[in-house]
This record gives sequence, structure tokens and C-alpha cells, in this order.
Amino acid sequence: MENVLCPRCQADNHSDNTFCRICDFHLKGKPPRRKGFIILVVIFVILILASAGTLIYIEMEYPKYGLVKRLKVVKEVLFQNDWIEQHNSYYNLSEKIRLKKIELDKLKNEIETKKDERKNAIKRLEERLKELKKKLDKL
Ligand SMILES: [Zn+2]
Repeated sequence: MENVLCPRCQADNHSDNTFCRICDFHLKGKPPRRKGFIILVVIFVILILASAGTLIYIEMEYPKYGLVKRLKVVKEVLFQNDWIEQHNSYYNLSEKIRLKKIELDKLKNEIETKKDERKNAIKRLEERLKELKKKLDKL
């Protein structure tokens, strides 16, 4: 008679035993499949398929913004020595644009102020004209 070690609790069991006498582990059956592992694999596969599907979809629908285009951009950045310089020039450009916008806003405000001034001047002139007409009628 041989003894069999239970793989789960390490208890000695008779080799005839189907189940461990201590923990009821099934000694003769196949080791149970690890469900958690299988679920993880399934989730992983689904994620990979979903990612691939998304990338393919983007590539088909929006080739401009797809993987190929992005890889080209990455390649350009990696193989460009002066990309920092270029970044700085872009930054300077955006700074210039910002300042121009501020200038533009100032000019707009000035124009609005001048419009108001002109409107007021026209009103004053109209009032003066009415007064003059009244005087003319009296004559
Ligand atoms: Zn056991």
C-alpha cells in the first residue's frame, strides 16, 4: 500500500482514496482548471482584439489621424535633430499670435469707442439742427 500526498494540504492519504481525508481534495481527478487564469486570458484577448479593431477602424475611417500618420509623426520627431528648436519656434509663433490678439482686442475697443463718440456727435449735430430750424421758423 502506497501513500499519496495531498497536493493541497500535504496530508498523507491511502493511494485508494479518491478524496483527501482531511480537505476533500479530489486526488484522482485532473487538477481543476484555474478559472481565474482562463478569465484573465479571455479578458486579455478581448482587450487586444478591441484595441486592434479600434486601430483598424481609425485607420479605415480617418486615415489622416490613423496609426500610419501617427507613426510618421513619431518617426519625424525621433529622427529630427532640431525638433526642440522647432518646438521653440512654434512656441514663439503662438506667443506672437497671443500678443497680436491682444493688440487686435485693443483696436476693437478703440473702434467701438470712436463709434460711440461719432454717434454722440451726430446726435448733438441733429439737436443743433433742430434748434436752428426752430429759429428759422420764428423768423
Ligand atoms: Zn488534503
